[in-house]
Amino acid sequence: MSILVVGSVAFDTVETPFGRAERVLGGSASFFAVAASFFVPVNLVGVVGRDFGEKQLAAFAGRNIDLEGLERTEGLTFLWEGKYSYDLNSRETIRTDLNVFEFFKPRIPASYRSSDVVFLGNIDPVLQREVLEQVSKPRIVACDTMNFWISRKAEELRKTLAKVDVLLVNDAEARELSGEWNIVKAARAIRAMGPHTLVVKKGEHGVLMFSDEGSFAAPAFPLENVFDPTGAGDTFAGGFLGYLAGAAGPGDQELRRAIIMGSTLASFCVEAFSLDRLLTITRKEIDARFRQFLELTRFSE
Ligand code: AMP
Repeated sequence: MSILVVGSVAFDTVETPFGRAERVLGGSASFFAVAASFFVPVNLVGVVGRDFGEKQLAAFAGRNIDLEGLERTEGLTFLWEGKYSYDLNSRETIRTDLNVFEFFKPRIPASYRSSDVVFLGNIDPVLQREVLEQVSKPRIVACDTMNFWISRKAEELRKTLAKVDVLLVNDAEARELSGEWNIVKAARAIRAMGPHTLVVKKGEHGVLMFSDEGSFAAPAFPLENVFDPTGAGDTFAGGFLGYLAGAAGPGDQELRRAIIMGSTLASFCVEAFSLDRLLTITRKEIDARFRQFLELTRFSE
């Protein structure tokens, strides 16, 4: 059992109303890999520059994360800078330096090709398909995307979505992709494009899942201290897919538990900058918070 992730490994500079973190470890594949590694071995495919050193690599050490697919090349690592509004619900991208990520061509090592689950992080949909061409029959193919690709590479994205089982996007992206304002209509339209399961992330308002079995909603865990939402979506995806990869099958009950596991991991992510909190949690803490979700949503008829 293993999971393959392709995505960004980055330096992030993040400003929230509670502080600022400079050049800390970020990137979609980093958050995803650490979250998923609590459940199954993770095969990471990405690229970093020569400025990515031992200190950053240490975050992945001692975990179930294989780095054979993390290419190191001449140049600088992808750098992203963002600033959050006071309520943390919106953020402004101050800077995106693609650097070595601009010429990224995912190469999947032979030992990764039989991964059971594949997560195509938010990269060019053409590259996402190239990844799928290099793997043999994964049990689940999941994908993330963003407004940039929805508006600039609509046709290519459609071709990729035809090969995807699970799409994870936020509500604005679901609306833009479908051309439907209503999220239920948007889900129907997107599921007709290929993915049988659609997960719509709504930040502090939780998650909605649409599948063959109907719909399922989960709140975000109510926290007293939210410090930095960066990476929450990718961490959610790591918890969700990591759990599914280790589960017997993607039936309705497994999908529902996976949504709660994703929400659990994401709730830890936002408690500190970068991956700081994710790197200190234990499986025991994860399971305890997972159980708290039962209490949070329990009611009687
Ligand atoms: P999230 O908060 O889940 O949207 O993820 C934020 C992470 O995505 C940050 O760690 C960034 O380094 C990374 N990121 C931001 N913009 C991009 C982009 N255009 N392509 C790939 N990764 C990005």
